[in-house]
Amino acid sequence: MDRESAARENPEMIFLRVFRTLRPRTPAPQVDLQFRPLANASSRVSWAGGRLTVLLAEVFRDSPYSVQEALAWILLSKLFRRAAPAKHLDRYRRFVNRRDVTRQMEQLRRKRGRKLCLPAQGKFFDLVAIFEELNLRFFWGLMARPEIGWSQSHSRTILGHYDTAHHTIILNRALDEERVPRFVVEYVMYHEMLHLRFPEQKRGMRRCVHTAEFKSAEQRFPEYARAQSWLKLWSPNENGRMERDSANNRANGQIG
Ligand SMILES: [Zn+2]
Repeated sequence: MDRESAARENPEMIFLRVFRTLRPRTPAPQVDLQFRPLANASSRVSWAGGRLTVLLAEVFRDSPYSVQEALAWILLSKLFRRAAPAKHLDRYRRFVNRRDVTRQMEQLRRKRGRKLCLPAQGKFFDLVAIFEELNLRFFWGLMARPEIGWSQSHSRTILGHYDTAHHTIILNRALDEERVPRFVVEYVMYHEMLHLRFPEQKRGMRRCVHTAEFKSAEQRFPEYARAQSWLKLWSPNENGRMERDSANNRANGQIG
């Protein structure tokens, strides 16, 4: 095939063409091809009922055309129990061993391996339920729910945090206690929800800026003052109380 038409072939077409080369007398299958968010190069094909299902690892999505073709030859040869052409095996191996490719897979692996938070359903409080209640009370139920969870570890200084990169609200697990009033957990959640409502304004290195608009919305929370004073006296563990200096944001106990 000439380069012109090769350039126009998408991965489905490549697999179909290789299939027909290997099995010229078999009716052309319907090709169902998907890229899977895998952190390795693992790919597979299956063939049943006239349908060829192709699952390719993410790393091949933007790989060169020749690599996608090599992959089609290798997977389909394997499917039909034939030896894959050496040229394609070689091309495939070179690609998956390329430094940038192994690094990309490593990064995916690291990203997936790192759990950002624990499930929203805690021992005493269900953060999704709290989010949705507040959503109805203060945001007309219109706020799209981000990922929500409890922190992995107890923090002595951070009550809650909105992680913009992962679009995730995380509350300090130490708040999931029987003695913590519900309105306090609600207040911390409400604060984090305001970060979604009023996106951060970058000022130098400051991660979280509470604008005047943000602060006045925060004070509309009916139990704002009560929650603040409760938190001032709260000791999440023996090592000392959690303090929050909301006046200048340089707090020890801070809501991120
Ligand atoms: Zn904040």
